[in-house]
Amino acid sequence: MVMLPVLPLIEGESTVSWCSRLGPFHAGLSGPDFLKLMQISRQSVVDTTDDCIGRLADLTGIAADRIRASGVQRVGEARFKHGDEVFGMRFALRTHTTFCPACLLEDADPSGPSAGRRVGRIGWMFSPVRTCPRHGLVLHRRPNNGFHEQFQDMTLVAPDDAALEKLAGDTPSANTSALQSYVERRFDGVLGYDWLDTQDIDQATRACEMLGACLVFGAHTNLDRLSLGDWSETGSAGFEAARDGVDGLRKALDEISRESFRRSSKGGPQAALGRIYQWLQFKKSKTDPGPIRDVVREFVLDTMSIDPGNTLFGRPVDARRRHSLASLSRSTGVHQATLRRALKLTGVLPADVDADDRFTVDAGQGERLADRIHNSIPISKIPNYLNCNRTQAQMLVKRGIVSQLVPDPGRGGGVLTNVAVRDLDDFISRFRAHGTTVRQASDGMFDAIVASEVVRRPVMDIVQLVLDRKLTSLELLSEDLGFRSVLVSPDEVRAVISDLEGEIGLSVHDVAARLGIFTSGVTHLRTKVDRSGRPFLRSLETVASSGTVRHRFAEEEVQRFQADYVALADLARARGKAPKVVAMELRKLDIKPIMRRELLNAAIYRRADL
Ligand SMILES: [Zn+2]
Repeated sequence: MVMLPVLPLIEGESTVSWCSRLGPFHAGLSGPDFLKLMQISRQSVVDTTDDCIGRLADLTGIAADRIRASGVQRVGEARFKHGDEVFGMRFALRTHTTFCPACLLEDADPSGPSAGRRVGRIGWMFSPVRTCPRHGLVLHRRPNNGFHEQFQDMTLVAPDDAALEKLAGDTPSANTSALQSYVERRFDGVLGYDWLDTQDIDQATRACEMLGACLVFGAHTNLDRLSLGDWSETGSAGFEAARDGVDGLRKALDEISRESFRRSSKGGPQAALGRIYQWLQFKKSKTDPGPIRDVVREFVLDTMSIDPGNTLFGRPVDARRRHSLASLSRSTGVHQATLRRALKLTGVLPADVDADDRFTVDAGQGERLADRIHNSIPISKIPNYLNCNRTQAQMLVKRGIVSQLVPDPGRGGGVLTNVAVRDLDDFISRFRAHGTTVRQASDGMFDAIVASEVVRRPVMDIVQLVLDRKLTSLELLSEDLGFRSVLVSPDEVRAVISDLEGEIGLSVHDVAARLGIFTSGVTHLRTKVDRSGRPFLRSLETVASSGTVRHRFAEEEVQRFQADYVALADLARARGKAPKVVAMELRKLDIKPIMRRELLNAAIYRRADL
C-alpha cells in the first residue's frame, strides 16, 4: 500500500527528518505519533535498519536505496555507515543536537520545498561538519538532553522560531573548513588525496584535527576549550598539512615541535608534540588512530633522543636513532662539554648555536665520535705507540697521514688534539699492506728512517711512497716494530722520486707542439744561446731511474720564450699581411730570424728587434 501523494526526500535531508514530516503530511499526526501508528520504532529509523527501510519503501513508494542514502546505518559494535564510508561514534555525533538556525527559519516558508516543515540535514551529524555552507554560519551544536534526542526531529530538538531568530543573529559567520569540504566530497565519492583517502574517514578527520589544533593553538592547548569555530580552523590547517601525505605531515610536526621548543627547551616528545603525543601514547579509547600513528612515531624516532626499550605508541623502541648531548654523554662516558665542542668542530652541530635538548645527532655518528675520543692518545704518546720519534709523530699529523680527533682543534683543544688509536692502527695496517714478510732485513733494505738519511729525503716522503704503492721492493718485519717494521730500498726510493719529479713541466713534444716547431728544434733552442749567452729555452734536467738524463720545460719558461720571440706566421697574421711580404719587409730592415728556418721549421724573430 503506497500512501499518495508521494512525499519525496529533500536534497540532503536525513531519514529521521523525512519520517517526521510523513505524519503531518499524510495523516495530520505528529511525526512520532504517525510512526507509532505504523509500528515503526524511532530507534529503527535512527539506525536506518533494513527492516525499517523496507517498511518505509512500501508505505511511501520511495526507493529503498534513496532512503538508505539519507541515513546512518549501524553496522556493528559502535560502527556506523553512511554511503560507502564506515566510521566510529565520535564521527557520527548521536550524542549532540546540531542545526543551522538560518536553514530552519527558511524551512518555515509555506511555499518552500518542505511546505513550512523543518528539515534536518544528514550532514549536520558528522563531527567535522561545523558550518552551514549555504549561510556561512557556524552551526549550533549542543549535547543532547537525553537519549530520546538521538531522534533528531528538528521540530522537537530545535527551539521555536523566535529563539532561532535570536540564535541566527548571535551566530558567528565562518567559511567552510577545508576538512569539512573534504569529508563532504568523500561522501559523494570524490577522492584525490592518497594518504587521507586510504584510511577511514574518521581516522583521517581525527588526524587532521589533532594536527591542526597543535599547529594553530600550540601543542599544549586545552582541547576542551576550543569552540566550534576554532575546530573549524584546526580542520583547515590540519587538512592542508595532511593532504600531501607524509612529507607534509612531517613538516607540520617539525613546526609544532619547534614552536614548543621556542617556549621551553626542555623535555622529550611529550613536551614537543603535546596533545598529539598524549593522544597516541596514552589513548584511552580503543579506536585505532590509523596511519598517523606510524608517521608521528617515525618522526619522533628520527628527530628525538628515545632510549631503546621504551614503549612508543604501543610498540617497544628496538634501536636508538638519535642522541642528545646528555644521552650520548651518559651512554659513552665522554663529558658533555667535550662532545659539544667535538660536534661543533666536526660540523655535526652548527658552530653558532648553543646545543641543548633540542639538538640531537645521528646515534651511530655520535657514538663513533665518542668512541674515538674515548680511545685516543696525545701526539706526544705517538712515538711510543708507533715506534718513531717525536718529529716523525708530529709530521705524520702535519702531513695529514693521521688526523687529530677534530680538524684544527686550536690551542687549548685538550683531549680533542689527540689522535684516535684506531687511526694509528689503521695507518700501520695501510703502511704494512704490501711487501714480503721477512725475519731479517735483506741486503740494501732499511726502515724509512734510515733510508731517509741515505737518500737525503724527508721520512714522510718515503712513507707517502709506501702508502701510494709507488715502491715494489718492500719487506715487512714483525708488526711489533710498528713504524720501523717496513723496509724499503734506498736505491728504489731515489729512482722513484727522480721519476716522479720528471713528471713536472712540459715534455719536448709538448713544447714543440706549442711553438709549432720540430722536436729537434726544441733541442736547438735548449742548446744554443741568445745574445746574452743564456739558452733560448732553459730545461729542468732530471736523471731517470735508468740513468738517462731527461729534459722537461717549466710552463713559465715556455711562456717567457713566447713573450720574447715570435714566429713569422704569427707575426704576419697579427699584421694582416702574407708571411712572404712580412719576411721581405724584415729582410729590407736587416732583421734576421734567431736561427736558420730549417733547424726549427719556423722563422722565429726576437720581438725586441721588430
Ligand atoms: Zn544554513
